[in-house]
Amino acid sequence: MAEPKKNSVLLLYTGGTAGMIRNKEGVLVPFDFEQIESLLPELDRLPFHIQHWATKKPIDSSNLKPDLWSELAEVIASEYDQHMGFVILHGTDTMAFSATALSFLLKNLGKPVVFTGAQLPIGDIRTDAKENILTALEIAGAQAMGMPVVPEVCIYFDYSLFRGNRSIKQSSDRFEAFSSPNFPKLAEAGTHIRFHQDFFHRAVGSFSIQKSNFSNRVATLRLFPGMGENHVLPLTTSPHWDVIILRTYGSGNAPSEPTIMNALKKATEAGKVIVNITQCTTGRVVQDTYEVGRQLTEIGVIEGLDLTLEAALVKTMFILGQGSFDSRRFKKAFQINIAGEMTAPTDFHH
Ligand code: ASP
Repeated sequence: MAEPKKNSVLLLYTGGTAGMIRNKEGVLVPFDFEQIESLLPELDRLPFHIQHWATKKPIDSSNLKPDLWSELAEVIASEYDQHMGFVILHGTDTMAFSATALSFLLKNLGKPVVFTGAQLPIGDIRTDAKENILTALEIAGAQAMGMPVVPEVCIYFDYSLFRGNRSIKQSSDRFEAFSSPNFPKLAEAGTHIRFHQDFFHRAVGSFSIQKSNFSNRVATLRLFPGMGENHVLPLTTSPHWDVIILRTYGSGNAPSEPTIMNALKKATEAGKVIVNITQCTTGRVVQDTYEVGRQLTEIGVIEGLDLTLEAALVKTMFILGQGSFDSRRFKKAFQINIAGEMTAPTDFHH
């Protein structure tokens, strides 16, 4: 006889392809969450209970608004003691943003919060939803000596577990949709799930929920050869942005073109913060590597180190949404590692 199930994992459903089925016309529509048992009968065979929570209306994650981040964090915080872990079913398009936001909102997390989704809907024959959901649940329920194995917000996709705030969506059509280019995988699922515990972010202190209004007073500016001051001025002189994320070349380089440098300089002098994030997928910003990077240090641009663009944006919105803007305070807060989203210069071996 099967052992009676004691523990549980909470499955939170927000929408996305994974949770869609094709209607009679072949169009993808979100399924009624009650149907999950019939679509995934394997759920019954997991050694713990699955409890459900769903947003009022499932969304395509391209329509995501930051309010959902706070809602998810509140549900997890209020259910925190009841479950071994949490799985969030989410569209892939903005999953990396959401996983980053949750890693900031859920301070000193000690349990797994595993985002997953799929490239093909759960009702399709070749769907990747089943494997992704079932293994994400196993990871959320994994315990060693009565303690959760995974203590952080992550993304599970195509046999790999990544730190959420290090992840990017890298492919629109491969099953291997995610990667964390600047951080090793946290686990790999083969016949066994192999956890790479040395890489886990282990928080010290007790769990609490953080608040933020996630201000959108941030803009991004991507450099390209031939760019002129007309591309730059509308952003640097606008009253709408407190922070500009500059997407530079290589290790954090920008053209020496005086009109562009002047526009950026005027912006920092006027109290805006400019954060330097590289256009490269891997590697980090070290502004003083080249003359064309050092000029940015001189005008007060701060290094975004090895943050992904997604993490840089969400971190900016998170900090801006926590109080009134002050450029000095913002810079200090931005340079503090909140939840393992970046590698500080001291962690880096030359
Ligand atoms: N557009 C969908 C979404 O992000 C794509 C997906 O789920 O994979 O909700």
